[in-house]
Parts: sequence; structure tokens; C-alpha cells
Amino acid sequence: MRTFTYIEKGRFDFLDKPKPTVIDKGDAVVKVTLASICTSDLHIKHGSVPRAVPGITVGHEMVGVVVEVGSAVTEVKAGDRVCVNVETFCGECFFCKRGFVNNCTDKDGGWALGCRIDGGQAEYVRVPHANCTLKKIPDTVTDRQALFVGDLLATGFWAAKISDICEDDTVLIIGAGPTGLCIMLSVMLKKPRRIIMCEKDSERIKFVNLHYPDVLTVTPDMAVDFVLKNTPHGGADVVIEAAGGESTFRLAWECARPNATVTVVALYDSAQILPLPDMYGKNLTFKTGGVDGCDCEEILSLIKDGKLDTLPLITHTYPLSEIDLAYELFESKRDGVIKIAVEC
Ligand SMILES: [Zn+2]
Ligand SMILES: [Zn+2]
Repeated sequence: MRTFTYIEKGRFDFLDKPKPTVIDKGDAVVKVTLASICTSDLHIKHGSVPRAVPGITVGHEMVGVVVEVGSAVTEVKAGDRVCVNVETFCGECFFCKRGFVNNCTDKDGGWALGCRIDGGQAEYVRVPHANCTLKKIPDTVTDRQALFVGDLLATGFWAAKISDICEDDTVLIIGAGPTGLCIMLSVMLKKPRRIIMCEKDSERIKFVNLHYPDVLTVTPDMAVDFVLKNTPHGGADVVIEAAGGESTFRLAWECARPNATVTVVALYDSAQILPLPDMYGKNLTFKTGGVDGCDCEEILSLIKDGKLDTLPLITHTYPLSEIDLAYELFESKRDGVIKIAVEC
């Protein structure tokens, strides 16, 4: 079958591999119908994910149809349309039992698909721990509507969940790329008083203004003043940093009011400075890390009920045979690209 594979640092390419089969009794094999490209795929390509194994098929954001299950799989069966979670997790270890599935201690736990084991930019994918990792897509929800449930939307939902948002709050989100936009959609569910998106790319600001006119937008150079002007207590009540730029971590805590929560979802290419003397007395709460993607069922039901809609984020569609061109577009950020659906 056709796969898109991490050959070596700086190079992904097409590679023919045998169709995967069930290896462990908890596995399922899924015929991928729709996949997507994530910024984390680019991090692998650029060599900034040291645990990524050369030779693996990339891709960890996909939906498909179950074609085969192991003897221990009870939650899904052949023929079920499913979304695949970015994190395969056992559901039984110390961390899984507390919902911290990103740190599942199983050998296939955490972000394994498309990183340490073959992922889903391919015709088929083997999914370990299928009982926890696959969620059935409701009949009334299309593949395109469900495409981001297991990764991007899970990340946005998790970021909003851990950020202690109240109805009276002003929430500042730094970065209006795919992750920032999914955070924004999830923050909207918490009904804060105001959402401000900070973004340097004028196309992306235009995108926010067009689709979400109630959301305020600002560029990074104007952000500190703008946030001060639009908040009653000297800064945002909650800041969620999803940009991972050179100075966006600093911007995040600078724009926060005293006693705010600052949630850092971004993955940085270099170390950041936490200048504790400068922020002494500001009494901030920092939350950091990668998604605990275990809310997919709730997310799917929000989509089904019309409360979450990521369809506007799919700006382009490519066949798997042209995924190399899709990567080129995604990486260049040309042509107003936000997310690309890849038909497998
Ligand atoms: Zn991802
Ligand atoms: Zn676990």
C-alpha cells in the first residue's frame, strides 16, 4: 500500500509497505479515509522530535473505517466509522486512570502513531489499544467534520478545559493558526466575556474577522497596549499561548493580569526564559504541556449537536498521491492555507 514515510531528517517520501495486520489482541486495523497534516509532522521532518523513528509512516490525525480487530477489542468492530486519537493509551496505568493519557506508561502509550510506530498518512493504519483510541463517529457527522477530533480539536478542547475560564473573563489566545483556532472554538463553549486573538499573519487575521466577527484581533506588536485597553484589571484573565514564536512566551505573561492563568500549549524550538524577579508579585499560574486527548467522545457529541464546527478550517483538499504537494503548501503557509484534508 502507499504510505508517506519519514525517510531521514529533512525528507519525507512515498514508500510502498505491506498492509498492516492485527499484531496484539488490542489492535484494530483502520482503512484511512481522510487524514490531515499537522505542524507536529513538520517538527518530525525538521528533526525536532528526537523520539521519532526514521522509516515510520507519518500522520497522526485521521478518520477511517475499521476493517479488522484483535480478540480483546470490544468497543469497535469491522465496518465502524471511527476517529483515531493522536495518543494511543492503555486506560489502565496510573496516568491513564487520572486522565493524563499523554503520559501513559505503556510501550505504545502517548504519541506513538506517526512518531514511533506507523501512522495514518497511508491507506491503512494499525491502531494499538483500539478500545481507548478509537471512537465511533455518529452517523450524522461526516468524516470532514470529525477529521480534527483526535488531535487538533482534542488539543483545543484540552487547553480550554485546563485554563480555568469563567464567564466574565477576557481570554487572550496567542496564535491564530490551526491550533489557536481550535482553542478559540473550544474557549467559545465556555462563554467568556471576550476573546482576543493575537496573530502576526494578516491572512489569518482576515480569516478570524471573516468567520468569527465577535472575536477581537490584534498583532503582537500592539498586543500589550490593546489588551490593557480592553480589560478592566490590567490584563487578560486567561492567556493561552499557541504560537511558539521567539517572543510569544514573554508576550503571554506580559499580557496576563495579576493572578491570571497562563496556559502554554506551544512547542518551542528553543528554551524560554522565565524571569521570576520581573513577575514577582504578579502571582501567575502557569500550565504547560501536550494534550491529554481523552475527551473525543464529548467532542464528537458537540459536533453532532452543532456546537463545534471546524469545517471552515479545511481550506484545501488533496489526494494521498499528491500529499507531497500538500506538505509543500502547508509548510509555506501560502494561499490562505489553514488545514488540508488528504483523501486516502
Ligand atoms: Zn498533531
Ligand atoms: Zn496508560
